[in-house]
Amino acid sequence: MDPRVEKFMASIKARNPGENEFHQAVQEVAESLIPFIEENPKYKHAKILERIAEPERVILFRVPWLDDKGEIQINKGYRIEMNSAIGPYKGGLRFHPTVNLGILKFLAFEQVFKNSLTTLPMGGGKGGSDFDPKGKSDNEVMRFCQSFMTELSRHIGPNTDIPAGDIGVGGREIGYLFGQYKRLRNEFTGILTGKGINWGGSLIRPEATGYGATYFAQNMLETRGDTLKGKVVTISGSGNVAQFACQKVTEMGGKVVTLSDSSGYIYDPAGINEDKLAYVMELKNVRRGRIKEYAEKYGVEYFEGKRPWDIKCDVAMPNATENEISGEEAKELIRNGCYCVSEGANMPSTPDAITAYLEAGILYGPGKAANAGGVAVSGLEMTQNSMRLAWTREEVDTRLQVIMKNIHDTCVKYGKQQDGYINYVMGANIGGFIKVADSMLAHGVV
Ligand code: NDP
Repeated sequence: MDPRVEKFMASIKARNPGENEFHQAVQEVAESLIPFIEENPKYKHAKILERIAEPERVILFRVPWLDDKGEIQINKGYRIEMNSAIGPYKGGLRFHPTVNLGILKFLAFEQVFKNSLTTLPMGGGKGGSDFDPKGKSDNEVMRFCQSFMTELSRHIGPNTDIPAGDIGVGGREIGYLFGQYKRLRNEFTGILTGKGINWGGSLIRPEATGYGATYFAQNMLETRGDTLKGKVVTISGSGNVAQFACQKVTEMGGKVVTLSDSSGYIYDPAGINEDKLAYVMELKNVRRGRIKEYAEKYGVEYFEGKRPWDIKCDVAMPNATENEISGEEAKELIRNGCYCVSEGANMPSTPDAITAYLEAGILYGPGKAANAGGVAVSGLEMTQNSMRLAWTREEVDTRLQVIMKNIHDTCVKYGKQQDGYINYVMGANIGGFIKVADSMLAHGVV
């Protein structure tokens, strides 16, 4: 490791002990940025990288709620307000039992760069709870959301911090959270994004992350004169991002052959077409069942406890969670002919996996670039809320495609190597950094 990166990381680890995912995210960025900062001493003297790695504010609170048996349950609630140099804090809420400070800080840190890349005026934040919505009744989820928002409402606002969804927080949860905020404040305002279409939401917001990651894959393929048409695509996850990535890949002529959840994956060599995807959406969004049922319904193979990276494919889209592709799995993907990875999830590839992609010279779109479509359309939802107007599907989708292309071009601008290879990791990190860093310089020591 570059000794400058090593020294910087030693101080990050000492200041943030035990926060492994946060260390991982910062190190990936530091590896791209430290050489760049050496060439641009104004950032070095102002300690921009040191400041960017420290949240502006961390809010940690108790979330007590009553379950259906009348018993009191207690969860932890968090909001990390990471950086507001270019706009109000913006980033999702995650409800999952694995949630802890280190995971949310990694997500908030990545969000700063991602939001900057979208070209929209949004700072970075992230929040959530160790609450597990799985197996809870709708009433329990509602009572939890109401308690969570009762505290969170003191810290957010349409010009301060605007949360959205993430793992475990979909349309149902956003509805309960919004309802409680409105009731507490007696105010109908764009306090969250991902809202329902009847009450301030934007068309294409649910689709945006999956569609955006697919457009990004297409943009990457185009640099090699290629397209998604006829490509075999493996997707992990079967939630919001995975479902709409599957839809868009199919629409663009590709064939999606896998989907997964935390229990295992299904392999459908014939492809997950529109009808089968409609079944998955009903299974996951309405019945809240397991992906295994797909295998039973369509008579395909199900692999319990496994991830889909040993299946032969041209393009892989990890759309479930962090660190879901190990170095070994990345090598297996490459051995099996995969030459394009577009990340719908945040940090799904381990550092070893990223090294394997870069060494093999494949197209690799890291999450902070490839999955920025979700927050970009959240930004468009905020714009529509401010104007009290609603754009058509076509208008939002066209803007999404333009934004994804701009993000891609920014990555090319800052990531193209002398031999012509596009290092999208470097491109996204440097491209996302400059606007935030220059704004921080303009604001002085704050
Ligand atoms: P959902 O909750 O809708 O779906 C998550 C999916 O991933 C489910 O299939 C879930 O399976 C699976 N999963 C979650 N945790 C694990 C785990 N530890 N191991 C294996 N599988 C797991 O979330 P989203 O689709 O919204 O989010 C997926 C990823 O995309 C996350 O990394 C998120 O941060 C990222 N992302 C999401 C955005 C959005 O707009 N929603 C925007 C940008 C990034 P199970 O049901 O069994 O838990």
